[in-house]
Amino acid sequence: MPVSTPTHHDRHGHYPQASSVADFEHNLVAVRARIATACRRVGRDPSEVRLLPVSKTKPEACLRLAYAAGCRLFGENKVQEAFGKWEAMQDLTDLHWSVIGHLQTNKAKLVARFAREFQALDSLRVAEALDQRLQAEGRALDVFVQINTSGEASKYGLAPEDASTFIRQLPAFSALRVRGLMTLALFSAEAERVRRCFVLLRDLRERLRQNAPSGIALDELSMGMSGDFEIAIEEGATVVRVGQAIFGARLLSDSHYWPATSSTDAAQPS
Ligand SMILES: *Cc1c(COP(=O)(O)O)cnc(C)c1O
Repeated sequence: MPVSTPTHHDRHGHYPQASSVADFEHNLVAVRARIATACRRVGRDPSEVRLLPVSKTKPEACLRLAYAAGCRLFGENKVQEAFGKWEAMQDLTDLHWSVIGHLQTNKAKLVARFAREFQALDSLRVAEALDQRLQAEGRALDVFVQINTSGEASKYGLAPEDASTFIRQLPAFSALRVRGLMTLALFSAEAERVRRCFVLLRDLRERLRQNAPSGIALDELSMGMSGDFEIAIEEGATVVRVGQAIFGARLLSDSHYWPATSSTDAAQPS
């Protein structure tokens, strides 16, 4: 069994648990202030950056507090967990869900039922499965194409050089509204290495735009999390996915959500 190495989780595991509406209001104000400061540094308007609160692992009661503090869209990494929360919170009719984690085709049916947005599209099989299910439901879905900008074998997403061919095939799936690109940066304490991932995503978007099929705008760049969203904003993020800085530290290690960063190395004899 490969041993999972600690990730950036450790870097900001100090966020206290939010356990009241006031806690959430306070955290949201603090995160928005960080967003505004980052925008100011590079002359951007904070209204260009959408904050997506990430509620994974947190219980329904916490999500209800966040809702009371004004959140109307939650990001969840795992489909089953998101679907359960959606079912339990049907009474909140203006609450929407964004699935931000890797999807297996057999779960496309669930996503097509409840999600407003899917940020981790990285295969034609999933595109096709989603499109079929969405057509059957009479729904459409905003999607982001996930790109592996860190070059780590453990990360999901398309290799940057495969993105152009992939995106040119997406108009065939009319229930998918392609909004832009998404990435997870390298988990590193070295800001410049993290920044390189974000720059790569932005440059890729500029190149893809030049021969994107009609109807595919690629306006959005979803990049940046609690530990690195200021850097992402400096490099052009239009969506930042923020969990721990709003909800508090997670108990589960991030390797529960992403394959252990070291798994390929650990599999080799040392
Ligand atoms: C968990 C998660 C985030 C948020 O991470 P935090 O460290 O809690 O801000 C962002 N993006 C994805 C894909 C995630 O799974």
